[in-house]
Amino acid sequence: MTEIELIIDLHRNSERQGPGSKKDTLMALSFMDLPQDNDLKLADIGCGSGGQTLTLAQNLNGHITAVDLFPEFLAELNEKSKKLGLEGKIKTLKASMDNLPFTKGEFDVIWSEGAIYIMGFSKGIQYWKQFLTDGGYLALSEITWTTNSRPREIEEFWIGEYPEIDAAANKIKILESNGFTLVGYFILSEDSWIENYYKPLESQFEHFLKRHENTDLAKKVVRDYRSEIELHMKYKEYYSYGFYMAKKTE
Ligand code: SAH
Repeated sequence: MTEIELIIDLHRNSERQGPGSKKDTLMALSFMDLPQDNDLKLADIGCGSGGQTLTLAQNLNGHITAVDLFPEFLAELNEKSKKLGLEGKIKTLKASMDNLPFTKGEFDVIWSEGAIYIMGFSKGIQYWKQFLTDGGYLALSEITWTTNSRPREIEEFWIGEYPEIDAAANKIKILESNGFTLVGYFILSEDSWIENYYKPLESQFEHFLKRHENTDLAKKVVRDYRSEIELHMKYKEYYSYGFYMAKKTE
């Protein structure tokens, strides 16, 4: 197995593949003035196994196209939505977020939790904008500095991982300069990182290593996550996921 295949295998049975929670998804939704009587159209990009997709489907009148590059996650989501009787509201689509088979103005809402960094915040916003109706909404969670300065170790780590990491004011500026008006912003809670993401992930490590017979690559995958978690515990006051809700106004 390649490293990416191992990473997918480690994450596939989890409820989420990144920090977040039902509460955060509902909070993000609460900033949008969406008609309840219309059949809304949403896209959930980088949906993973659909933690947020299921919450959205349970709380909205509409249809969701849930997009991910990896069919393993979409299979999990399909299974869960069937179990919950939501298969009529959620359609999964295997596609890359930078090459989507959508038409212009197709969606009322484009949702993406913990995934836009893959193509980059600016590029993602610029590319996805065309698929929104006028007055449509974006909801994006994006890694964000939460203080004006920070220790060098954590700054270097994140700049190495994602050079576009920045303060909320600069992320909001990017939204505004692309024709969006911010309608809400908040920071994910500690629980969304630790209780909902890191702890369930850690609980898989042992079984994952056994399943892969302790290969060097499997050990490397676990080592990398352990050091990410360690850094998070040490420096969590300096960064989080910011959740940005914005309306297409220009
Ligand atoms: N939204 C989910 C998953 C976030 S992790 C949650 O918050 O739990 C990022 C997701 O993006 C993963 O599911 C990964 O498979 C997916 N992904 C990676 N590259 C992608 C691409 N090029 N296009 C679409 N999805 C991609």
